[in-house]
Amino acid sequence: MTSSEPYLGNDHLHVGDGKSLVISNIAHSKIRSPNRMFTLSNILHVLIIKKPLLSVQKFCLENNVFFEFHSSLFYVKDLMTKEVLLSGQSRDGLYVLSESSATSLPQAFSSTCLSTSADVWHRRLGHPSPRILHLLVKNKKVSCTSTQFNFHCPACSLGKSSRLTLKTTGHQTRAPLDLIFSDVWGPSPMLSSDGFRYFVIFVDAHTKFIWFYPLTAKSDVFAIFHQFQALVERQFSLKIKYVQTDWGGEYRKLNTYFKTIGIHHHVICPHTHEQNGMVERCHRHIVETGLTLLGQCHAPLKYWSYAFESSVYLINRMPTPVLNNKTPFECLLKSTPDYAFLRTFGCLCFPFLRPYNAHKLDFRSTPCVFLGYSTSHVGYRCLDLSSKRIYLAHHVRFHENVFPLDKIEQITATPKQPSAPSIPVTLHPLMQPSSVPSPLPPTLPTLPPAHLPLSACYYDHSSIAGSDSSHSQASLDAAASSPVLSLVRSPVMGASSAGSPSRSDTGSASLSPPSITVCVDLSKFNLQHVPTAVSSPS
Ligand SMILES: [Zn+2]
Repeated sequence: MTSSEPYLGNDHLHVGDGKSLVISNIAHSKIRSPNRMFTLSNILHVLIIKKPLLSVQKFCLENNVFFEFHSSLFYVKDLMTKEVLLSGQSRDGLYVLSESSATSLPQAFSSTCLSTSADVWHRRLGHPSPRILHLLVKNKKVSCTSTQFNFHCPACSLGKSSRLTLKTTGHQTRAPLDLIFSDVWGPSPMLSSDGFRYFVIFVDAHTKFIWFYPLTAKSDVFAIFHQFQALVERQFSLKIKYVQTDWGGEYRKLNTYFKTIGIHHHVICPHTHEQNGMVERCHRHIVETGLTLLGQCHAPLKYWSYAFESSVYLINRMPTPVLNNKTPFECLLKSTPDYAFLRTFGCLCFPFLRPYNAHKLDFRSTPCVFLGYSTSHVGYRCLDLSSKRIYLAHHVRFHENVFPLDKIEQITATPKQPSAPSIPVTLHPLMQPSSVPSPLPPTLPTLPPAHLPLSACYYDHSSIAGSDSSHSQASLDAAASSPVLSLVRSPVMGASSAGSPSRSDTGSASLSPPSITVCVDLSKFNLQHVPTAVSSPS
């Protein structure tokens, strides 16, 4: 209680059995949660009532919130942003608002705090089963403020028909890259916001590690395999020995290449897809996890490529019984994944943009949507909905219970237009920072039509390389003045820290100095109302 005084009025408290009870005192109090201070005014103190009761209507009115009641728990959410501010359990037929209700909240503003609730971890990790989450908590890989893993998850109901694990298929391998499975998925019924229609995966039979590459056409598989091979053989100093495919048209051209370099090409028998079960289960796992990620943030399906890429990133970091409860990441890279780096896909985020301010009164950040991880830069991919830019940033603040795409869909509920092709293109400097692995052979860039506007955004490598901000600012100016187009998008790789193997497909000749990557996103989002939506959700 912050203040209390004797009640001098004539009112009584009337209860269910018709009695009227004497009010002895009147008080005021506050409840503190990580993001909000709640006011409780005019609390009536009645001596014979031992359980403090809260008027939901009064609480909502005074604090601009609403309650969401489920059978076993409840949430108190902000009226405007729908952000969860308090939560609690039900006990003996009552919903209990305790001190832990206020302290067991997700740490929305923390970028380093590991201890957060089980349902937030469930979302960050790509909606693994309670068993997998329990395993991570038991092994102290992640720290949870609660051990209630049986929460209701609408996104899981939307995105998954069943839980899938990578079952063993009896392939005997002795080392990574002994046998690689590959298959193409697509065509997607919807062009992705960054212009892709397919994806191809390469799965290492020994470690179950998955490499994901989005494709504009199936015929790109030939070039992509060369990239993949160059990457893994260099990073792991091992050679690919066998590749198994379904003899789809896109792999026939590769067959000749395999023969010339001594790779055995295993081809499954016609009409026996079960022989390719391993890679097909991977496809389902990726697609279902990706749909669940889209479902959790109510994102339009055109963001599927980002969601699927994030799924692969997360699947590689989830323990699986097939590997004796180890993760593919550990089995391949011999180090533990950094779970503290993970955040909830599709949530509101604010990348640190101060080095790029035009003048001292520019805001230090802008509201963005978190669209997964940039493995080539060890950072987060943040979509600025007002400018359509994608920022790759290391220093980002997250609001993991706010999903801006949800509001945008409501605001821009206009008749659907056909998806406009959009190709994010990365502009790379001539030199890479020392912490970024050496580039792969260049791939021909997909140049945007000249009439499309280019919007440049910048990523500060200094956060990785440790250089100071003045350096990055100077580099930025130089980079912005002389950019050269390079590759489309780097695929997902297991690297989570600088110096680990990375699939940065950089390396084409370019002009600008190190420490800056300039991205150009040509996507044509119909989202003119977004800044308004984010800054004033009403
Ligand atoms: Zn879920």
